[in-house]
Amino acid sequence: MIGLISATAAGAAARDRLAAAWPDRARVYDGPVGDAVRRAFAECEQLVCLLATGAVVRLIAPLLGDKATDPGVVCVDESGRFAVSLVGGHGGGANELAREVGELLGAEPVVTTATDAVGVPGLDTLGFPVEGDVAAVSRALLDGEPVALKAELAWPLPPLPVAAEGAGGAEGSESGEGSYTIRLTDRLVERVAEREVVLRPPSLVVGVGASKGAPVDEVLGLIESTLGAAGLSLKSVAELATVDAKADEPGIVEAAERLGVPVVTHSAEQLAGVEVPNPSDAPLAAVGTPSVAEAAALVRGGELLVPKRKSERADGQPAMATCAVVRRPGRGRLAVVGLGPGARDLLTPRAKAELRRASVLVGLDQYVDQIRDLLRPGTRVLESGLGAEEERARTAVEEARKGQAVALIGSGDAGVYAMASPALAEASDDIDVIGVPGVTAALAAAAILGAPLGHDHVSISLSDLHTPWEVIERRVRAAAEADIVVTFYNPRSRGRDWQLPKALAILAEHRKPTTPVGVVRNASRPDESSRLTTLGALDPATVDMMTVVTVGNTATRDIAGRMVTPRGYRWQESAQQQEGAQ
Ligand code: SAH
Repeated sequence: MIGLISATAAGAAARDRLAAAWPDRARVYDGPVGDAVRRAFAECEQLVCLLATGAVVRLIAPLLGDKATDPGVVCVDESGRFAVSLVGGHGGGANELAREVGELLGAEPVVTTATDAVGVPGLDTLGFPVEGDVAAVSRALLDGEPVALKAELAWPLPPLPVAAEGAGGAEGSESGEGSYTIRLTDRLVERVAEREVVLRPPSLVVGVGASKGAPVDEVLGLIESTLGAAGLSLKSVAELATVDAKADEPGIVEAAERLGVPVVTHSAEQLAGVEVPNPSDAPLAAVGTPSVAEAAALVRGGELLVPKRKSERADGQPAMATCAVVRRPGRGRLAVVGLGPGARDLLTPRAKAELRRASVLVGLDQYVDQIRDLLRPGTRVLESGLGAEEERARTAVEEARKGQAVALIGSGDAGVYAMASPALAEASDDIDVIGVPGVTAALAAAAILGAPLGHDHVSISLSDLHTPWEVIERRVRAAAEADIVVTFYNPRSRGRDWQLPKALAILAEHRKPTTPVGVVRNASRPDESSRLTTLGALDPATVDMMTVVTVGNTATRDIAGRMVTPRGYRWQESAQQQEGAQ
């Protein structure tokens, strides 16, 4: 819950806007401000105080405890110009909240946490538990001091400006006493060294079996002792896995709750199909699979670290719980990101976030240049020149398969005549793929021209590099016959000069010479240009590869210098009737 506190009429107005935007998330605290802040601080995860920072600092100072548990506090000034993340920037989510409040109130978010300000992700914001001296290692990252990453398993981390990346071993030994280290491991660490942080990826799946009524202490005790004996950390447990029939077994449900992880269940048939080292008859009779713990842990793949173990009961009664532990490799992440037509403000916020999330960026050098300033320090950039498309696609997929967070970029929309299809043709289901749409050239051009795409439209690429000309011609003819608005991509290059005239000639068989044609070059780029001409007047020699050409249908009109295709057939018919009557 977010507690909202205000003192003045202006503050109350802003407060009410926030309350209206967050009907289920926020609660207004009325009454004397001091009391309100104290109550909200005790009851809420976050506070937005529409009060001066000085007043808030004085009020919350005596209440502050630990940054892991204190609520995040955001202050908004009287005139609603700034949303200041005051305390709990990372752990309390105040930085994020300041940005949200900023969006809602039109205020500038003020974030002073160093890691956010310079683009290094906070080590405590990576989404998994961290042990050790986070402050010291973060400071080292920020100061550009050498920090070694010792990753014992591949995981799609966001970029970290680390000196060396490698799996413990050889590289680890170089970083002797005194240097900074980020260690990524699911194993127990006896003593976290000074200047070291340990990141706990959610890599362990604990398969659990339990007889009806198995006490939570027995289930949890078994899990704890099993992981401990195997030298594994409880903090890396991602989930408890079991069979559907045990979804509501209180001992399992409560154990998961206490560990703060979900219970994931699978059908008995699914589990029966998993090959396990220790099948037995008892679960087969009870729930229809010869293994619950091992099979549930293994069903989504991974390496069996601890085979089935039974609980031991102090009273000597038969065990009521079993468990087994599997390590699942981190799934690589491939984001296919469209950068839009060129202008920075046509790059979507989601695309920006994915570019900053990726530790490996793959793309054509000229597109990389377009967004290089957005990348976080430590991002590995794999750029290549024109033509190396398939190689880029393969590289991106290979990196994701290694467990990296990869962004593969393309201009406009990365799925339109671009990288998404060659990449997904290479990709298998062992990686996550995230598509981020971008503003494609046809849309960028249409917005400049007016409203040429108001009715049915197609895009046709005139590049016969990958497509035989006969196929392209057949499609142009079909669009011509169906009276569909056409946008030509890749219309003309030095070596390809006859295709555009030919395509226009086919359209002209079905459309008048007066049909409006929009030509847009470098849409949204600094040297953008556009013109509205007609099918009869267009000189194809003035068109190049930086251009899209949009040809209207029989209803498209030039209205006050803008290209407009009516939305409805009715309007179209009546326009034609009017024309016929003239
Ligand atoms: N994925 C891109 C298209 C790649 S094909 C997209 O969705 O926009 C390359 C062709 O796109 C170019 O030959 C040109 O026809 C068109 N194009 C791309 N960006 C453009 C821009 N800013 N202005 C005009 N045309 C553009």
